[in-house]
Amino acid sequence: MIVADGVSKRFGAFTALDHVSLSVPRGKLVALLGPSGSGKTTLLRILAGLDFADQGRIVLDGADATTLPTRDRGVGFVFQHYALFRHMTVAENVAFGLSVRKGRARPSKTAIAAKVEELLGLVQLSGLGRRYPAQLSGGQRQRVALARALAVEPRLLLLDEPFGALDAQVRKDLRRWLRSLHEDMGLTGVFVTHDQEEALEVADEVVVMNKGRIEQVGTPSDIYDRPATPFVYRFLGNVNALPVILDHGRAEIAGLVLTSSCGMGHSGPGTAFIRPHDVDVRPASSEGGVGHVRHLNVLGPVVRAELVVGGVTLEAELTREQHERLALAPGAEVRVMVRAAKLFPVDVE
Ligand code: ATP
Repeated sequence: MIVADGVSKRFGAFTALDHVSLSVPRGKLVALLGPSGSGKTTLLRILAGLDFADQGRIVLDGADATTLPTRDRGVGFVFQHYALFRHMTVAENVAFGLSVRKGRARPSKTAIAAKVEELLGLVQLSGLGRRYPAQLSGGQRQRVALARALAVEPRLLLLDEPFGALDAQVRKDLRRWLRSLHEDMGLTGVFVTHDQEEALEVADEVVVMNKGRIEQVGTPSDIYDRPATPFVYRFLGNVNALPVILDHGRAEIAGLVLTSSCGMGHSGPGTAFIRPHDVDVRPASSEGGVGHVRHLNVLGPVVRAELVVGGVTLEAELTREQHERLALAPGAEVRVMVRAAKLFPVDVE
């Protein structure tokens, strides 16, 4: 549906996008995920036609759209600085796109009013059409902005941090709401976020960006379970990055020997990435590397334990039940096994 093909963008000497190629299929909701400054907004602006690439092409529904102005792209967008019009009511804000629509017959007043009502229902704001933006909560304002973007029936919806600056509960509600809206309407959408959880929860496909390049594109489980690069591994959640000695398929981490197909054939130092929930903590009477509990942190249903194994500190995540069964306390001796490890033969970072 929309394709970026080898897109580069420079601001002076700074390269914000470096040969980015991406394809967003019809009906998919895609997240651009990356740290601040990785080029997410720049890419979104180029997709929207608010900015143009120095190099590369944008193809929209099979036609070259590289230099096509925004108004001819049929895209709806919600950018953070495109706030609501403060002097207009909610209904007037939503109707705005309908009444200024270019190249199409202007709908009648009654048709506009009916459409606005329908959209307000869709974003669960029925009955609030006469209010002004100042009389709404942050989450309600975001939904008005989305209704305004949806009013023009865009073939593509582009959202820049759509739930930024909202408190955790509202963010959660809105994420769920966007997900079901997407499922009901079959929307094609691209949204920018720097929040891993948001990307994994809402998107069909996640594009992980770093320093103006794409590190990996995949489904949430591809990205989380099979990260392609050390950067993706680290960015997607808590991780232990441990020094490792590789010796032709054997790897030794803090006295624990593992065999792994990754890094096979390489010898020498490297980095092993292990998620805290893949660290298996057992009683001192079992097999495994000798470790000691340094610190325990109870976080609701999970307990995070900081362990020292062979002089290396690593984090383990346990359930409350495991924690109680093991009767863990700071200073306690335990045995540690590593269930799965992804090994990167060279220490990249
Ligand atoms: P954030 O999450 O902080 O919004 P981002 O991933 O969306 O970050 P971009 O806004 O795309 O990042 O910016 C990428 C880089 O390009 C940044 O280093 C930024 O400073 C730079 N940049 C963006 N727009 C301009 C501009 N108009 N002039 C100069 N530099 C710019």
